[in-house]
Amino acid sequence: MLNASLSEMSAALESRKISSVELTQLFLGRIAKLNGELNAFITADAPRALKDAAAADARRATGQSGPLLGIPVAHKDIFCTEGIRTTCGSKMLADFVSPYDAHVISRFGAAGAVLLGKTNMDEFAMGSSNESSYFGAVKNPWRRSAVPGGSSGGSAAAVAARMAPAATGTDTGGSIRQPASFTGVCGVKPTYGVVSRYGMIAFASSLDQGGPMGKGAADLAALLNVMAGFDARDSTSLDRPPEDYARDLERPVAGLRIGLPREYFGDGVDADVAARVQDAIRWFEGQGAKTVEITLPNTKLAVPVYYVLAPAEASSNLSRFDGVRYGHRAAEYADLYEMYCKSRAEGFGAEVKRRILVGTYVLSHGYYDAYYLQAQKIRRLIAGDFSDAFAQCDVIMGPVAPTTAYEAGAMSGDPVKMYLGDIFTIPASLAGLPGMSIPCGFDSKGLPVGLQAIGNYFSEARLLNVAHQYQKATDWHIRVPDAFPL
Ligand code: GLN
Repeated sequence: MLNASLSEMSAALESRKISSVELTQLFLGRIAKLNGELNAFITADAPRALKDAAAADARRATGQSGPLLGIPVAHKDIFCTEGIRTTCGSKMLADFVSPYDAHVISRFGAAGAVLLGKTNMDEFAMGSSNESSYFGAVKNPWRRSAVPGGSSGGSAAAVAARMAPAATGTDTGGSIRQPASFTGVCGVKPTYGVVSRYGMIAFASSLDQGGPMGKGAADLAALLNVMAGFDARDSTSLDRPPEDYARDLERPVAGLRIGLPREYFGDGVDADVAARVQDAIRWFEGQGAKTVEITLPNTKLAVPVYYVLAPAEASSNLSRFDGVRYGHRAAEYADLYEMYCKSRAEGFGAEVKRRILVGTYVLSHGYYDAYYLQAQKIRRLIAGDFSDAFAQCDVIMGPVAPTTAYEAGAMSGDPVKMYLGDIFTIPASLAGLPGMSIPCGFDSKGLPVGLQAIGNYFSEARLLNVAHQYQKATDWHIRVPDAFPL
């Protein structure tokens, strides 16, 4: 069961081969055994999980069913959960218990999913390696000296080590896709506005988007069916008719037009990564897909633009953490001003402070026009590159990241070097487009490689279809790290 798909788990629950309590115990056992080593969970609340599981079993006993009824799901610790602390990977919120559930959490609750625990993450989702968490770094199950990616590295590692059947993540500039790629799991960042941000702690609001992480695309479709949908409490939530994200899973890929951006296959990409991505693309060609070379000419500007806009929004969003209403408050202070200063100085880690400083600077009088406004204009050009490209193709493919997982500490002393690793995920984020990471093999060190597929707005079902067809022919997504046999 630990390596089963969600539909296999659901069938086993439905036929009473296993109860939700037993299934949950299986994963709790795995967490108890492995979390000390991997640090994927910040909070694993066994009594709460077992209570959810018993409730799901009771619902099933009354004749209810549903694809996620009784299935354990782990949640990135950025989603507010009533009754269990929500830390966002920060000392600032180390003891914070939200008085309400995020929209995503309520949707999983209504579907009868079991809340397995809260996963580790870079502090306030700022990072690409999970090393900025106040709760310690997460280890990559494929190689414990390597990072799992970030910021949703805890969710990624939890799924990769089969400590959870599936998990949620959030992606502002790549935080679902890149850790999925580094750990050999599957993850989708939906079109901006598809998943409500209500109760999802804000980093950069015009970019933040929640999405599912799991073993395969069919699982992601079932999860997205629960997560997506209009929510009046998020002003950027899109009011569209509900969709079944699994509807196209079985569609053949013959005739699919795959755009290959010249900028995504250049010098900076590791040879192993390029080779595995090319192998996957060749598989699609073998199925009758057509490839076409495209260009996304403003790609090189995406990283600088993002690292102006995201910190600008973060500096504003994080001003709410002032030690007054909730979160960390310094123990000693002379006056209100000193309380603000000391609470924030103590509560935030180095990367968060760096972003607040950069963000405040680029928004300041005299620099706003030179940096922030300029970045907004280029963001528009980047979105325009994609709309031109989608005139020629249905889906864009390339690597998720230029490298596979790197060694812990390799980038942490040089933030700009780490930022440059986001080059292939940030453009779709700036444009608000859906993107996913699909496991497509391993490098010579045995580390997973992810194929990125980017689609036009609202093409999640098509992306999942493309991934599912590939996964019917390959087994990369169901391989388990040697160090953690089932
Ligand atoms: N690595 C990027 C950053 O540090 C993206 C993070 C994210 O998507 N949350 O901002």
